[in-house]
Amino acid sequence: MSWDAVLESLTPLCSEPIRRSEPMRRHTTLRVGGPAALFYRVRHIDEFARIAEWCQQHGVPTFIMGHGSNILVSDRGIPAVVLYNACDRAEIGEETYAQTGIAFQELFLKTARAGLSGLEFAVGIPGTLGGALVSNAGAYRHNIADLLIAIELVSEGRRQWVSPDWMEFSYRDSKLRRPNAPPTALLSVKLRLQPDQRLKILARARELQRQRIEKQPPESSAGSFFKNVYSYELAERLPQLPKPLREVGVVPAGFLIEACGLKGYTVGGACVSRKHANFLINRGWATATDFRKLADFVKQRVYEQFGVWLEEEVLSVGDWSEPHEGA
Ligand SMILES: Cc1cc2nc3c(=O)[nH]c(=O)nc-3n(C[C@H](O)[C@H](O)[C@H](O)COP(=O)(O)OP(=O)(O)OC[C@H]3O[C@@H](n4cnc5c(N)ncnc54)[C@H](O)[C@@H]3O)c2cc1C
Repeated sequence: MSWDAVLESLTPLCSEPIRRSEPMRRHTTLRVGGPAALFYRVRHIDEFARIAEWCQQHGVPTFIMGHGSNILVSDRGIPAVVLYNACDRAEIGEETYAQTGIAFQELFLKTARAGLSGLEFAVGIPGTLGGALVSNAGAYRHNIADLLIAIELVSEGRRQWVSPDWMEFSYRDSKLRRPNAPPTALLSVKLRLQPDQRLKILARARELQRQRIEKQPPESSAGSFFKNVYSYELAERLPQLPKPLREVGVVPAGFLIEACGLKGYTVGGACVSRKHANFLINRGWATATDFRKLADFVKQRVYEQFGVWLEEEVLSVGDWSEPHEGA
């Protein structure tokens, strides 16, 4: 089906105009990315479900996005219907209902104000609840998957509630990150939270936020670019690794990158942060291709020095089929 035909069919399902060729750099925290074939900001969950159902039933490629804080979009853009999820209603309680377009931090604040604990780790994680689900977002040994009761989604052209097992969560992973994942739109969730004193919850969150500010570079990034490595064997080989990490067999990706002397290493406008080696930052003029080349170089160097291939936490999205020579 041509994009004109898709536009014509989708327009009656949408309450606002669909945009063509929307530059994705406006919607990603890395500030790179070419155009989306069609782009629609969806605000109502029923509309979201209907559009997703229609696209899945007709085999139209869709890309659901939240705040673009965990994606590297190709300079050639995304040949798909990009749905920017702005469905953000929440009903707060020990069993909280939340739509997936709510900002993760906003959800924390609402639950904390209601004296409910569990989401403190979300402070400082930009992005939506939907993006958090796909990558099982977390920090300080807590993950979103631990709190889930049920998930509402559209998959195989059908709106349904499923148990969290459906997502096959593991460390910064779910089945929706994997190649050949079924096209799926996550609509809403039910979460289990624990009552606690508001001031205690906010104090815990403030402490986590303080630790984060100390470590995190302020420039445009997508957070940690690579996943940490879980390997007792590798940890044993690294005498400089702090003992608590060696004991649990966790090797931070930033530790390996820094040990390769790559802090400050630059390709075009993309650079390994000097503050935190696992953050690849945009110096202001980077292209997606710069980030791709830099990430590949980092992986190669870490492999040569330590014999492990770093896995990317940031998802590469869009058309990467041709060699890129800049935007
Ligand atoms: C400064 C900074 C710090 C960060 N710190 C952390 C951290 O501590 N821990 C951590 O885990 N992450 C961290 N991140 C990464 C990122 O913020 C999280 O992964 C976040 O949850 C992504 O949400 P998003 O809405 O921006 O997702 P996007 O980047 O928009 O999308 C990410 C993926 O999720 C999919 N997706 C999003 N919404 C839906 C939906 N409703 N249905 C189906 N698929 C969907 C997209 O298709 C895409 O594949 C950080 C990022 C930054 C920039």
